[in-house]
Parts: sequence; C-alpha cells; structure tokens
Amino acid sequence: MDKFMQAAIDEAREGMEHNHGGPFGAIIVRDGKIVSRSHNEVLLTNDPTAHAEVLAIRKASEILENFDLSDCEIYTSSQPCPMCLAAIYWSRIKKVYFGTNKEDVAVIGFDDSRFYKLIRGEEDKNPLEIVNIDRKECLGLLREWEEKSDKKMY
Ligand SMILES: [Zn+2]
Repeated sequence: MDKFMQAAIDEAREGMEHNHGGPFGAIIVRDGKIVSRSHNEVLLTNDPTAHAEVLAIRKASEILENFDLSDCEIYTSSQPCPMCLAAIYWSRIKKVYFGTNKEDVAVIGFDDSRFYKLIRGEEDKNPLEIVNIDRKECLGLLREWEEKSDKKMY
C-alpha cells in the first residue's frame, strides 16, 4: 500500500469520525515529503467548497508561499470532483493519484458523476441558469488589467 495514499485514508477517516464531512482525504507531496493534509470539512464549516483537495491546495500554497504547485503531487482517497479537478489544474499540480472512482462514490450518495455529465452537456436538465449580460462593461476590466503595469501573471 502506498504510504501517501494511506495518509490520505487516515486523514479522511479522521474527518469522518469527527463528523467534519464525507469520507474524503487529500495529501500534497513535494520531493517525497508531505506538505499538507486535509479532509472534507463541508459539514464542519458549512462551506460547500471545503473538499479535501481544495483545502489541501490552500494549505500547501500557504505553507510554500506559492500559488504554483507544479512541483507537487496530490494523493486523494477519491477521484477529484470537477471543482477539485479545476482547482488542481489552477494549482499546476502535475500528477494526481486517486483511490476510489466517481462511480464508487455515487453508490454512497456523492454523485460527482452528475456534475461531470452536466459539464460535458450530457444531462438533459441543468439546474443552473447561466446568463451572459453586460459583456462590454465587464470587458473594460480586462482592458484595465491588460494595461496595469504592475500586474503579476499566474
Ligand atoms: Zn471535490
């Protein structure tokens, strides 16, 4: 058994036993060492985005004082949901190790696979209304950013 995945499982169990959230844990590793560890805290904080992967990324970025985690890897006890996957892309992490897959978590009521389908346009009923308004005015912000002399790209 992989020691980092074992750490992700231990973290998940810790959160589950304290009713912090679902049975999900994540570990971020750099140079063979654990940088951060987190578990799902949706129930503890009432934050629907408090998934283990997102929290592990936030902690690692804070510890490393860097928003770019391209030299890190993430171990997560379950396949990342679309939100966490996007957060992983934003963090520039290059490798994800996951334990259970989205079908496994759907069986216990965490239906990430539905969000995957919605994003791919494979669901008939989208519960989210998405409306594009005031593009021109919002575009002004992008122009201001482009012209900002002290901007830092990420
Ligand atoms: Zn997630």
